[in-house]
Amino acid sequence: MRTTPVPRAAGPAPDTFAGLDLLRAAEALPDDERTRLTELHHLLQSAVRRQSIDCWNREEFAGDLVAVLAEAGLGALQLEPTSALFRGLVHAEVARADLSLSTVVGVHNELVVGLIDALGSPEQRRELLPGLATMRTIGAFALTEPDHGSDVAGGLATTARLDGDEWVIDGAKRWIGLATVADFAVVWARDVTDATVKAFVIETDRPGFRAVPIRNKIGLRIMQNADVTLDDVRVPVTSLVPGAVGFDSVNTVLRHSRAWVGWQAVGLQLAALDVARAYAARREQFGRPLASFQLVQLTLARMAGNTASSLALMMQVARLQDAGILEMAHSAMVKATCTTQARESVSLGRNLLGGNGMTTDGEMAKLFGDAEAMHTYEGTYEINQLIVGRALTGVSAFVG
Ligand SMILES: Cc1cc2nc3c(=O)[nH]c(=O)nc-3n(C[C@H](O)[C@H](O)[C@H](O)COP(=O)(O)OP(=O)(O)OC[C@H]3O[C@@H](n4cnc5c(N)ncnc54)[C@H](O)[C@@H]3O)c2cc1C
Repeated sequence: MRTTPVPRAAGPAPDTFAGLDLLRAAEALPDDERTRLTELHHLLQSAVRRQSIDCWNREEFAGDLVAVLAEAGLGALQLEPTSALFRGLVHAEVARADLSLSTVVGVHNELVVGLIDALGSPEQRRELLPGLATMRTIGAFALTEPDHGSDVAGGLATTARLDGDEWVIDGAKRWIGLATVADFAVVWARDVTDATVKAFVIETDRPGFRAVPIRNKIGLRIMQNADVTLDDVRVPVTSLVPGAVGFDSVNTVLRHSRAWVGWQAVGLQLAALDVARAYAARREQFGRPLASFQLVQLTLARMAGNTASSLALMMQVARLQDAGILEMAHSAMVKATCTTQARESVSLGRNLLGGNGMTTDGEMAKLFGDAEAMHTYEGTYEINQLIVGRALTGVSAFVG
């Protein structure tokens, strides 16, 4: 009996996900923002991505690569009237090129520029914002302490004492990004008089300010994190950031910076997909490219599903930000969820590269290490989930 051959169903065009805008997110941007995002993508891929690997291996701050970002205008991202989706997709593209440099851009915009702009005095804004906008001035954000990380809200032990027309700051901070290269740090300290937490702009060349780099990190190796000691550091009363009084003011800043980490998780996963897809296409085993094996495609599809899921969450977060209704529970939820998805994606990607996934020559091992740092900073997975749990139940379970 003659059978009619069943036509093979036409598959999707092989370039459906070519640039990996998996959910066509950029199409929601106005033309000018979409063009700028595309230009930035090409710049980051050509002038930053490969170049960052050596600096990462050597654990060196990449001043020349930061200059590329500054030249591209990323120092003023927070000050521009762009959509939240544009800002988020920019952060994802920077993270796709290098997570440490994305952290430089993110801390700079979300935690320093954003804080000075929203909570600073008119003089602080006038003096600091122009230099920050061009990244000629760099700031650090110093909240965490050696003995107080997750419990810093209640435990913060650095003190501020008013002495005439000066504040005297004493204490220690840990993990402070950029503290060794910054011009100033926004330091959170507890006023000994009223026990309120307050923020101070402290120049890093003040007597008593010392920053020592933390070495041998397994991720985020370009970003210089430091142990900071503040030993009787004297600053004028004008150093107090007037709007940054009480822990609620920290949370107004952290609410947005936590969401930014969700965008970093999107970018890191895009990078992992870039590397995994290219490797699967060129590496042959059993006489065929890895990409032709079903189990390899399953891995790639899972990574893509994770990435798209993170992206979808972040697209909705951008809508909440533009509407001015983003709450801490939203940010905590997407920070915890997207970084967990990223952790799984880079782990799958590392496995897909076999032995070559073990060395940073193939980039994937760099992404694998960076995912670990991202999972911890801006509140650990557990602490962010406790914030979500509190929002769901009305019960705070931070202290057992
Ligand atoms: C690479 C990197 C960059 C950073 N950059 C900065 C920066 O620029 N500025 C800054 O101020 N800080 C920064 N941090 C600090 C970061 O925010 C803290 O590391 C983080 O908040 C966790 O604090 P910890 O390290 O003291 O861990 P701990 O608080 O000691 O936590 C240890 C473990 O116990 C868990 N745990 C703690 N309490 C509970 C609880 N109640 N229930 C369940 N589990 C709990 C945590 O989830 C974690 O798994 C950075 C950290 C890293 C790793």
